[in-house]
Amino acid sequence: MDTLRSNDPTAIMAADKAHVWHHLMQHKPFEGGVDPRIIVEGKGLRVWDIKGRESLDAVSGGVWTVNLGYGRERIANAVRDQLIKLPYFAGASGTIPGAIYAQMLIGHMPGLSRVYFANSGSEANEKGFKMVRQIAHKHYGGKKWKILYRERDYHGTTIGTLAASGQVERAMQYGPYPDGFVMVPHCLEYRKQWDVENYGERAAEAIEEVILREGPDTIGALCLEPITAGGGAIVPPKGYWEKVQEICRKYDILLHIDEVVCGFGRTGTMFGYQHYGIQPDIVTMAKGVASGYAAISACVTTEAVFDKFKDDSDPLGYFRDISTFGGCTSGPAAAIEVLKIMDEEDTLSNVKNTGAYFIDQLQGLADRHAIIGDVRGKGLFAGVELVADRTTKEPLAEKLVGGVVADCAANGVIIGATNRSIPGYNNSLVFAPPLIATKSDIDEIVAAVDGALSRAV
Ligand code: PMP
Repeated sequence: MDTLRSNDPTAIMAADKAHVWHHLMQHKPFEGGVDPRIIVEGKGLRVWDIKGRESLDAVSGGVWTVNLGYGRERIANAVRDQLIKLPYFAGASGTIPGAIYAQMLIGHMPGLSRVYFANSGSEANEKGFKMVRQIAHKHYGGKKWKILYRERDYHGTTIGTLAASGQVERAMQYGPYPDGFVMVPHCLEYRKQWDVENYGERAAEAIEEVILREGPDTIGALCLEPITAGGGAIVPPKGYWEKVQEICRKYDILLHIDEVVCGFGRTGTMFGYQHYGIQPDIVTMAKGVASGYAAISACVTTEAVFDKFKDDSDPLGYFRDISTFGGCTSGPAAAIEVLKIMDEEDTLSNVKNTGAYFIDQLQGLADRHAIIGDVRGKGLFAGVELVADRTTKEPLAEKLVGGVVADCAANGVIIGATNRSIPGYNNSLVFAPPLIATKSDIDEIVAAVDGALSRAV
């Protein structure tokens, strides 16, 4: 068969339609003449598809990953140089970029000291879960094996991480799941579950209630996103995190923070948990680690967690986990450049300033569009919850929400939505532009949303 030429869009689209199974996608419409979107090139915040259409990417590669934007030759060159020198060696050995990067990363995470490399967010979270399980077997005689997770949070797509999925639609039809994963209530005040003054504290107490119901000596860890991302941009209310930390300490429960989305500046601090003055035991990260220029994730722990696996009297005592591509050198080589660029360009300041402007502008839209029920977010992660009725807060129909996303895309701005995660509540628009966004980029995004909302109902 002839090699397909990259400058033959018709042939590329035909090959894609015939052979590529896209993620999160119903393929039936492709049979009816709909073309798949094929992205060809990017620069800064802009991407171009195979039909030559330019778009402003307000979701950093679709799932909030290309934090530093497209076309960073410096990162690509670092990857290239490293690949020529040494592309790979299995993770039982060390590598130069791995060691340098681990030290740089730990410099941004006071109280943590050990970096376990993997490839994806799901995998990093699985590592955390496995650590908790092995600690339970080795140190608690099989107790403390349960892992708590929160309604609306997401931790990945594997069977283990789906067992911990607070986005219930994502987990449907893939069971049965492993035992020992227990859900705690979400903390979104807009969708109130308790009528109290101090909502943050009350939502944290709800976690304590689950702990007491299950038995504190059965629970090993609590795994939470610092700010829930795909579940609807949920910024925990005041008082929540302090109380959560207190509860974990009280019952000797490890605090596992999933920074897969919030890590590396997305919300204005290097990690999302750092807004709240808390000290996690396990932190997982993926998307922003290499800003999409290489596949790398990590599970970072305290020395106390690491020490639980140091025992040469037990032949099974070390962390008996491996990940073939956790030994790739391109990941840390790219990730080193990401940290350097963030420092040199003062990315965090831009996220704080431009992010505040973004949320302000979205709030301005709420004055003009009655279908906006709530605007939430922090830094350059924002969500707009759409409702059919502001008083009853009835969620806007998913089809109409999808229409807003499609309208923006047709007008050159790619945005996202909570995608089949919470039955009946797939009604939020989500935004996570690259962290280099300027106010004029934000104006362009907000103008597209403004127009789309005017045409929505
Ligand atoms: N945790 C969170 C908070 C996520 O948003 C995601 C992915 N969207 C994951 C984990 C899973 O990451 P991955 O797709 O790289 O496995």
